[in-house]
Amino acid sequence: MTQSKPTTIIAATASQAATEAVSARIRRRVEAAGQRFSANDNIAEFIEPGELDALLEEVTGKMQHVLDSLVIDTEQDHNTAQTAHRIARMYLKEVFEGRYKAAPPITEFPNAEQLNELMIVGPITVRSACSHHFCPIMGNLWVGVMPNEHTNVIGLSKYERLARWIMSRPQIQEEAIVQLADLIQHKTKPDGLALIMKSTHFCMSWRGVKDKDSKMINSVMRGVFLKDATLRREFLALLPREY
Ligand SMILES: [Zn+2]
Repeated sequence: MTQSKPTTIIAATASQAATEAVSARIRRRVEAAGQRFSANDNIAEFIEPGELDALLEEVTGKMQHVLDSLVIDTEQDHNTAQTAHRIARMYLKEVFEGRYKAAPPITEFPNAEQLNELMIVGPITVRSACSHHFCPIMGNLWVGVMPNEHTNVIGLSKYERLARWIMSRPQIQEEAIVQLADLIQHKTKPDGLALIMKSTHFCMSWRGVKDKDSKMINSVMRGVFLKDATLRREFLALLPREY
């Protein structure tokens, strides 16, 4: 397993720790734990109190270098004077906060009423950015749940919070929908789970082929939604026509 990695990787000398960037320190912990740290992975457990603000300062400095290399006069141009800091803040504390923040606390309740009817939640607004270009992805998400007597019940707003946590990372839509399905499955343990995500990818409308009307639709069907075509049809039929 992952713990067998040599501890020499974790250990840094005192002088090294004092000079190294905070990102390097966090990265060393992630690597020592043998964890993946792709763009859409959460690394909150490896960040110690205070380090997120230090990381914000580090990213601000690096982003300033990007603006310098773009030959933008951030000293004279008051519009861009604080842009490096604003972008760093936006990435770390807003649009990509799902990488750096622990999962939202969700209370699961036993299914006391023994609900076993199809439940649909949506549309949940999808706000993300593609891993390839860091361009926005905006769209809608629908969640269908088929509970059984062992399914945990969570409040309707909690689906939105879980979705936001997964989507506020650089994402690939087809990976995002699977990550979210795994999370909801794990938290609620339903008989069946169905997710449909429909989004506009700004890397196709703002740049590239500049096709402003094209949308990407992904679906994930699990459990009874896979086995039972009637249930699947019922779920799809209940979605608004222009979902
Ligand atoms: Zn893209």
